[in-house]
Formats: sequence, C-alpha cells, structure tokens
Amino acid sequence: MQPLVDCFHWDVMDGHFVPNLTFGPPVVNALRTHLDLPFEIHLMIDQPATYAPQFDVRPADTILFHLESSDTPEAILSAIANTPASAGITLRPGTPLESVFPYLDQVSMVLVMSVEPGFGGQAFMPEALDRIRALKREIGTRPVEINVDGGINVQTVHSVVEAGADIVVAGSAVFGQPDRTEAIAALREAAV
Ligand code: ZN
Repeated sequence: MQPLVDCFHWDVMDGHFVPNLTFGPPVVNALRTHLDLPFEIHLMIDQPATYAPQFDVRPADTILFHLESSDTPEAILSAIANTPASAGITLRPGTPLESVFPYLDQVSMVLVMSVEPGFGGQAFMPEALDRIRALKREIGTRPVEINVDGGINVQTVHSVVEAGADIVVAGSAVFGQPDRTEAIAALREAAV
C-alpha cells in the first residue's frame, strides 16, 4: 500500500530552548523500529550536539538543528556527521535568513519556520514566503531541499509550494481533523 505521507517530522522540545516539552530520543527510537518512512528530527533544544547522536537514525533520516541553539553549528554538524543521518538547519522566523547561507554546502535541508517554534496550531506567517523565495535563489543548484514548518493547511500550502518549498510539515491540519486520510489527500490536492 502506498503510504499517505512521505516522511514523519518529530518536534523535539526541551522546555529550555522553547517553552514547551515534548519527547526525546527514547520515544523517537522506539517509534523508529515500527515505521519505515524517513524521519525528520527537528531539535528545538539546547545542546543539540550532545543529543543528536542519541537518536537511532537511518541514512534517509534528517536531523534538523536550530542555528540559535547553545552549540555552534560546526559542533552540531560534526556530531550529526558521526550518525548515518543527513544534517538539516533551521532558524526562528526573526533570525536573518542570511545566517544559514554559510552552511548551505554542509546540509541537505533548510527548514523555514513559518511560526515561532514551540507550539502547534499557530497561524502561518506570510513573511515566510519571501524567505522561501530568497532561500531558493541562494541555494541555486545545490542539492538542498526547502522544508516549511508552521501553519501549513489547505489555505496556505499552495503559496508555500509555489514559493519554492520541496517539503511541507503539517500538524494540526492533519491531526486536528476527524478523518486524517482525507485531510492528507486535501493537502496534497491543495498543494498543486
Ligand atoms: Zn518542526
């Protein structure tokens, strides 16, 4: 059977880097053994270089770290390089987009946050569209995917894809609907 989604996105929050608290390596690792699709592990935590190696990742997985976290990007990139996963970089909506440009040759994905990280169910920030376009221009021919996280729903998904997103993350737009299969189909339809 064709899977409904292409990958799973896990929002790991530590109650420090963001005010909310979700789950960490033991929960994600337990799920890893039951699911075959790629994982995107979005680390909204301090000390990501310490925790990144604790995830049981596979080569198709991506570990995403925040540019604003307590470790240097170099330290985190080197920690992720010791795992089978690819590295992805992300940034808060208020952080200048140019801050990720020096790392575009070292990551396979940039995650554009279209809400302030930390809570689900927030409204999409339309300023993200300009950031997606500018990022796409800067990436050029590099093998870097643009992923967009926050406020994605049937109303917003088309403009995000049109601006240049390769991947979108949907939370409330799927889990807040009574029929999740239908919700995913509606998002795919609205995206094109
Ligand atoms: Zn996320």
